[in-house]
Amino acid sequence: MKSPIVAGNWKMNMTHLEGQEFIKQVDNLTLDIATVKVIFCPPFSTLFHSIEILKNSDASVGSQNCHWEKEGAFTGEISVRMLDELGVQYVIIGHSERRHIFNESDEWINKKILAVVESGLKPIFCIGETLQNRENGLTEIVLSKQLERGLAGVIDLSGLVIAYEPVWAIGTGKVATGSQIEDAHTSIKNWLKINYSGDISDQMTILYGGSVNSKNTKELIELKGVDGFLIGGASLQIENFNEIIHLVEQFYRG
Ligand code: PEP
Repeated sequence: MKSPIVAGNWKMNMTHLEGQEFIKQVDNLTLDIATVKVIFCPPFSTLFHSIEILKNSDASVGSQNCHWEKEGAFTGEISVRMLDELGVQYVIIGHSERRHIFNESDEWINKKILAVVESGLKPIFCIGETLQNRENGLTEIVLSKQLERGLAGVIDLSGLVIAYEPVWAIGTGKVATGSQIEDAHTSIKNWLKINYSGDISDQMTILYGGSVNSKNTKELIELKGVDGFLIGGASLQIENFNEIIHLVEQFYRG
């Protein structure tokens, strides 16, 4: 059975000392969590210590990026092999900030996903439409294209997590409406059904991301097809993040 996920994308925030303190505190507050998979995605500088702190915990550590080559002359990059050896379990790939600020193409995203899958780590594959896409009625087409290009050549989707993150909802305080989220998740599932199988589409964890916080968690987790969240801003606040984790846990435990 798939587990709900609450993943925190710290982006370029917190030094390794601040990060360690943060993780210790959240881990202590979430000792009672049995159903939700909590994933911390700190900057590279905090990965090693996060893994040390969480070695007896059910929470996992994810990287915010990777390069597809195993090693070589790629200044400023980190390989999946390096992340794997540290004990990193997840890698965020295709985040809208990587796509839009760093001009990452679907082709690069695909190479990264293939490298992560090959190494046995789990990609958190982010897709989502811009406001312009949505206003032009292109949301479903954009999502299908991102899925088709990002997953080209990926045969086994087990372990892969998809995060639907409308670009206009990330870090803006504008949350997509319930029907916008349900429609997007349904179209992702339909694409998976057509291109893989019905079983896979039922088994895959599909997250929502975009201005999630402890105030809107309850209504968002009830939406059809939402298996958890990828969270930016609220994942940097101990109380907010802890409350989101507990609200998702409560929903699943019933
Ligand atoms: C994100 O960075 O993936 C994100 C969803 O950010 P925020 O929660 O701040 O909108």
